[in-house]
Amino acid sequence: MKFVVQVRLFPTPAQEAALADTLRLCNEAANLVSRTAWDTKTFRNYDLRVHTYGELKNMGLSAQPAQHVIKKVADAYTTVRAQVKANLRKPLTKPIGFRKDAAQPFDDRCLSWQVEARTVSIWTTGGRMKGIRFGCSEEQARALAAYRKGESDLVHRDGRWLLIATCDVPDTDVTEPDTFLGVDFGIANIATTSDGVKHAGKALNAVRHRNRELRRRLQAKQTKSAKRLLKRRRRKESRFARDVNHVISKSIVTEAERTGRGIALEDLQGIRDRVRLRKPQRVTLHSWSFHQLGSFIAYKAVRAGVALVYVDPAYTSQGCSACGHIDRKNRPDQETFACTSCGFAEHADVNAARNIAMRGVAGWAAVMQPDAA
Ligand SMILES: [Zn+2]
Repeated sequence: MKFVVQVRLFPTPAQEAALADTLRLCNEAANLVSRTAWDTKTFRNYDLRVHTYGELKNMGLSAQPAQHVIKKVADAYTTVRAQVKANLRKPLTKPIGFRKDAAQPFDDRCLSWQVEARTVSIWTTGGRMKGIRFGCSEEQARALAAYRKGESDLVHRDGRWLLIATCDVPDTDVTEPDTFLGVDFGIANIATTSDGVKHAGKALNAVRHRNRELRRRLQAKQTKSAKRLLKRRRRKESRFARDVNHVISKSIVTEAERTGRGIALEDLQGIRDRVRLRKPQRVTLHSWSFHQLGSFIAYKAVRAGVALVYVDPAYTSQGCSACGHIDRKNRPDQETFACTSCGFAEHADVNAARNIAMRGVAGWAAVMQPDAA
């Protein structure tokens, strides 16, 4: 079972400058690789390496970061191709672009964790930076120490430095479930379960809306006090979102544990890949919030020994959870699902969560096949 743990870094000014320079260089390199991929119609990781590796070395990237940059670009094109195939987006008309602070993956050779001391050591363009402090909860620290595996993403967002680590829990520690509780993420309802429980986002959306308005008004005046106020509000908003996500995730995991079920979530990898690309701020904001909720559910599930599977979210909102009929017309409006084939009617988010729950059963069977490992 895989899930992510997100921690905040607290670099010194010198460490921060090195991190910023590293991310900028990695993304400049990514844009260069992306243009080469586009111009030469070369999208596979290995072929791209042949075309661009030398140039990246010349830019000042060492071997591991250069390979990660190339893989990041190849993965981004793979994601887009899959989305085009599933009719989720239009084909590209120009190379994929990476923001100068887009997330960058680091493997164990470039990033090491000292969980007990709450520090990391990381490769940067200014050399190896040791003893960068990070903050996390006891729960997160336990998960990092026991289960962290593979790459971590370095992210710079809203002036904060974050590391997103992947944890992998052996399936033997998990109770074998018969059925799954499906969870649909949304904006009006942050999370809806296949049991019909809706966790409304009204209060949180109201705070976000107020802060967005305030930001618009204050952005015109670039005064120090305006900036300070905005920063304070943003912190408060993110604390509030965090609390909401803790409450929701606890309720979902407790319910699954009580009824002996597993939990099925939409594939977070999809969300993660989507936010690496250019997207409107609003979408990004919500994606991050879902990402956090997903990771809270994941580590609470791990602690409780509740099985967790990620399912392909394609068509979960347009497909009928009673008969399987897929049709855009099944969704006359945002809130309503009414099957044009069998007549099944349900709140749209609940119908989507029921589809996710059913895919969970199939997904779990696939995960548990001895040959799969
Ligand atoms: Zn139907």
